[in-house]
Amino acid sequence: MSAAGPTPARQLRFEIFRYDPEDPASTPHMQSFELEEAPYMTLYIALNQLREKQDPSLQFDFACRSAICGSCGMLVNGRPALGCRTLTAGLPDVIRLHPLPVFKLIGDLSVDTGRWFRQMVEENEAWMHAAQPFDPQAPEQRMDDDLAQAIYAGERCIECGCCVASCGVANLRPDFAGPAGLNRIARFMMDPRDTRSDADWFEVVSNSDGVFGCLGMMACHDVCPKQLPLLEVYAYLRRKMLATGLR
Ligand code: SF4
Ligand code: SF4
Repeated sequence: MSAAGPTPARQLRFEIFRYDPEDPASTPHMQSFELEEAPYMTLYIALNQLREKQDPSLQFDFACRSAICGSCGMLVNGRPALGCRTLTAGLPDVIRLHPLPVFKLIGDLSVDTGRWFRQMVEENEAWMHAAQPFDPQAPEQRMDDDLAQAIYAGERCIECGCCVASCGVANLRPDFAGPAGLNRIARFMMDPRDTRSDADWFEVVSNSDGVFGCLGMMACHDVCPKQLPLLEVYAYLRRKMLATGLR
């Protein structure tokens, strides 16, 4: 009888995009690293080990490690994903990592999603336009449960940028509101505390930079790590805009 020993750990090869846009001597290239896989290893753990033990200059972003801060979006074998949520066990022996497209590259795997989101919010005025100034002493306003749930669903966006990176239109057209932008617009359109009328929203969203620029192939929906109901969001926006009767 032969006693089966422990399964030897996999040797992973990481192919990682390297480039420092601030350094004139730097050119975009891929760099290879070898790393022994450990049980329950995530890309967060693997990249930290690579940086600690092999190359302290490797740039990438992480903060919360639990899919809340939205910092660690990257292309994992070509697909946008959060590094902290991605187990190496679900990946092949060769793991290719690139920064998310669309966003300004800071260096290696690190991108500036904040700049893109700030611009999107400013262009679409995606904040509350209330009739009254905020009064912290005012009693809470009642809201229908289903509506509150729908608004909350939109609020769960962690602004990781995975949906934006997956979107062919956002990759080609910087003025497109993008999936995360459309989600944010819908969140304020639904909110009865926002005073903007459907006709006001028509100017913002009823064009090719808004919901009618979306091709509807739903790559964004497939990669969203928070499973936001983006399909329902776009359907809601289209219905609302068509109901205005405006052209
Ligand atoms: S469904 Fe629309 S928003 Fe989503 S990835 Fe496709 S074009 Fe972009
Ligand atoms: S909608 Fe989803 S994929 Fe897009 S930024 Fe928000 S959490 Fe990330």
